Amino acid sequence: MLLEGKTALIVLAHQERTSFNYAMKEVTEKALKKKGWTVLVSDLYEMKFNPVLSRNDITGKAKEPSRFKYGAETLAAWKEGRLAKDIKEEQKKVDRADLIIFQFPLYWFGLPAIMKGWVERVLSMGFAYSFETMYSEGPFKNKKALLSFTTGGPGSMTTPSGLNGDINVILWPMQNGILNFCGFKVLEPQISYAVAHIPDEARVGILQSWEKRLEKIWDETPITFLPIQDFEGMTGGFLLKKEVEETRSDNRYGPTVGQHLGKPLPPDSQLKSENSRL
Ligand SMILES: Cc1cc2nc3c(=O)[nH]c(=O)nc-3n(C[C@H](O)[C@H](O)[C@H](O)COP(=O)(O)OP(=O)(O)OC[C@H]3O[C@@H](n4cnc5c(N)ncnc54)[C@H](O)[C@@H]3O)c2cc1C
Repeated sequence: MLLEGKTALIVLAHQERTSFNYAMKEVTEKALKKKGWTVLVSDLYEMKFNPVLSRNDITGKAKEPSRFKYGAETLAAWKEGRLAKDIKEEQKKVDRADLIIFQFPLYWFGLPAIMKGWVERVLSMGFAYSFETMYSEGPFKNKKALLSFTTGGPGSMTTPSGLNGDINVILWPMQNGILNFCGFKVLEPQISYAVAHIPDEARVGILQSWEKRLEKIWDETPITFLPIQDFEGMTGGFLLKKEVEETRSDNRYGPTVGQHLGKPLPPDSQLKSENSRL
């Protein structure tokens, strides 16, 4: 598959240019440009990105100023081109991007606040999702996205018997609740464990293997989620269809981390695509 002509957006959340996260961002930018990609960067701390939702996220007259409802107001503003300038600029970058790479240190088992705020303000209703267009039918179903993050703890800490618990459970809200929800095809996460506590050679090795991975990133098989067609609609409470559940009744594992049907979680289903798990 041709890589030339593709566009990537790197959304970076780190305060320091001397950080390992910044080094990962530099490698990404350089490696993708070398392959002919256009690379856009949203360096959130550098931009002083405002992560706080407010009425200022719309311009013009609110529909219901005395009972301002953020979702409804931003949906109307998006339709009418009245979202705040900084949101519009980020949405334009998302529109242009074939691939979005989120580069961040894991904070409190999730995204740093500044990046969560980017998600909340930029991936707004209508633009990034609606009840009619969500999950496998989401607006970004032709785009790919990937989480690249660093941790404080070692990998063993986030295993099913580790102190922090299974990394697949930690990944589920970010990969399913944000990326898959908006339709992105989710590529395997790039997790750099315990970067502050390993030798310099090991860190250089991580940067090198990430650079190598980026060479063929577009050809990778995404992680599997259940398609929205497997579920009932609103009147059926969005439940997994009985016939889908029945076809899986002999499986030892539940279908996903979230839709586990009371069975053991499918091992490493948020870490690896089905191809690389076989
Ligand atoms: C609020 C908060 C919440 C947190 N929550 C969690 C949590 O839930 N789970 C968890 O596991 N951790 C957690 N942490 C820890 C956090 O995830 C780590 O501190 C972070 O991931 C480390 O990444 P960094 O980029 O900041 O590393 P840095 O400390 O900036 O860098 C690590 C090392 O890499 C070196 N380095 C930089 N550039 C290069 C290069 N080019 N080549 C080689 N070496 C280089 C640096 O000099 C440094 O020695 C939390 C931290 C905070 C502050």
